[in-house]
Amino acid sequence: MIDVSFFENDFNLLQVQELAGFSRGGRTIELAVKREELIHNVVSGNKFRKLKYNLIAAKNQKQETLLTFGGAYSNHIAAVAKAGELCGFKTLGVIRGEELGENLLQTLQQNGTLKFAYECGMHFHFVTRSEYRNKQTASFRESLKTKFGDFYEIPEGGTNDLAVKGCTEILNSDTSSYDVIACAVGTGGTIAGIIEGSLPHQKIIGFPALKGDFLTDEIKKYTSKTNWQLISDYHFGGYAKMNSALISFINSFKEKHGIQLDPVYTGKMMYGLTELIESGFFSENTRILAVHTGGLQGIAGMNEKLKRKGQSLIV
Ligand SMILES: *Cc1c(COP(=O)(O)O)cnc(C)c1O
Repeated sequence: MIDVSFFENDFNLLQVQELAGFSRGGRTIELAVKREELIHNVVSGNKFRKLKYNLIAAKNQKQETLLTFGGAYSNHIAAVAKAGELCGFKTLGVIRGEELGENLLQTLQQNGTLKFAYECGMHFHFVTRSEYRNKQTASFRESLKTKFGDFYEIPEGGTNDLAVKGCTEILNSDTSSYDVIACAVGTGGTIAGIIEGSLPHQKIIGFPALKGDFLTDEIKKYTSKTNWQLISDYHFGGYAKMNSALISFINSFKEKHGIQLDPVYTGKMMYGLTELIESGFFSENTRILAVHTGGLQGIAGMNEKLKRKGQSLIV
């Protein structure tokens, strides 16, 4: 039985939390956080928003299997696996890195994200990096259908029209008094939805978690509004790259405000946003809302890596 009622919950009662102590250089700046990470410990934040209408569509199309793509530490893979378990879908993850499939037991011991997905019942199909790059080709699709039968496909990172539609619901009547909405950017689907859901007086600023100029075009595929800007100075060297300044920022932010940030997305956004506030980027009395898009399931895996390198950990 497929039951998507978890995704039909209205999580808009989640509180917007005001943070103290963000006035800088004589300017009064208000900063609040939309705590979307509290929706669920794994299907959290934007991953919940992005999956909602896709799962409803899959159910309406009488599909029983969800298929998606990702790397070994992907929040999206973890979220799809858990969403499948919650709703009764079988899940198939096409994972980059065929070496990971050589000794599955060892892979699961070393990788908390894949272990979690596996325990949710996800079936893995490990592919080489070149197969992964060619995953959009018709022949690769055919081979998947031959192997696994029919499925509802969710793209890598989860961005499609229905995902953007779900992300329009991040903003609502409780958030209409904010002037600036900030969020982390990966594939651009989340910010596109936030832009679509925004009011004319609001400006959306996105902090890409990875290098590259392709994001502006990606976002424009999903919105024709122009009240947004990307700040590209806070990727910390690229996707899932980090340094000790970022780690200590995340740890002290938690100590000060009681909010856990993740190192791949929300930590970089908040680091950048804090620097912009301190540098006088925003005018007096600006009210800023930062969207906490979740991603906390990835921290354990990052800490494993940091520990192996002898670096300080996220606490
Ligand atoms: C996946 C993810 C993002 C990126 O979302 P996009 O829609 O791909 O831009 C941002 N924050 C967190 C915590 C995520 O897990």
